[in-house]
Amino acid sequence: MTLHIDTPLVESRQLSLVSGRSVWLKLEALQPPGSFKIRGIGFACETYLARGARRFVSSSGGNAGLAVAYAGRRLSVPVTVVVPETTSERAKKLLRLEDAEVIVHGVSWQEANAFALSLVGIADAFLHPFDDPLLWQGHATMVDEVFRSGLEPDVIVLSVGGGGLLSGVAEGLHRNGWGHIPILAVETEGAASYHEATKAGFPVELEGITSIATSLGAKRVCERAMQWWEDHPVRSVLVTDKSALRACERFLADHRLLVEPACGASLAPVYDNAPELQQFGTVLVIVCGGATATMDQIRQWSKRYKAIR
Ligand SMILES: *Cc1c(COP(=O)(O)O)cnc(C)c1O
Repeated sequence: MTLHIDTPLVESRQLSLVSGRSVWLKLEALQPPGSFKIRGIGFACETYLARGARRFVSSSGGNAGLAVAYAGRRLSVPVTVVVPETTSERAKKLLRLEDAEVIVHGVSWQEANAFALSLVGIADAFLHPFDDPLLWQGHATMVDEVFRSGLEPDVIVLSVGGGGLLSGVAEGLHRNGWGHIPILAVETEGAASYHEATKAGFPVELEGITSIATSLGAKRVCERAMQWWEDHPVRSVLVTDKSALRACERFLADHRLLVEPACGASLAPVYDNAPELQQFGTVLVIVCGGATATMDQIRQWSKRYKAIR
């Protein structure tokens, strides 16, 4: 038994028709805590528990924290999540729903994270949201499932925050003999830490995050994602927040699934028929999900963008 589930792999009639190619979806939005993160974090939590951890500590008020809280409840290990004052009531509620202890500390994530690290005792495990080899190993299972299905995509489209998902998918491709299948790494403008890093040749630190796709808001990507840029065919693509939002709305209408803009970002190049996809016949989109999206929030944002169009 794993903490994640095998997710459906479905061909999207709607996306195939708009883009004029065969578009497949790996529906990670259906993972119990709402995103792919449980694959890597679940595997890391199980490993740390086997090594003797008696508590899991996280500083994420987003999908990573939710995955830790979920894993802790399932494994009967107490979880402490430290979040900054800016964290929404909804995020705190979702964490408490999974029985996590939520500590509000500091005005920024940096302060919350520093406090979380200071709490980590000898018998505790700290779960990083994207920079841990155990995470990548766990995320790679989504590629194992695709491989077993018999579908061989020509390209994989996924979103990049800190680069954990990218590192896991690349690892999964290589361990299944699929090192030749390229990855389209999508970010929103305003959260383009990978794009900037690939231009510079090393992980650069963004001054700030201005995108609404907060789950992509890592100011600096992990070193492993930079190595994959060297060792694997990866293309970096940027989309606007507006385009990511529109993709969320269209995806809800087409597939009845509400996803975060962080996930809409990966759907946007397909809905917008981006030039980067022109050469590919079969496209696989990792529908990474996200539990922090609400209808109200998506509508509010959309209204704002329609007003300035
Ligand atoms: C975490 C997350 C991402 C980005 O993953 P990284 O491993 O940080 O690159 C994208 N989408 C969603 C919904 C996420 O929760």
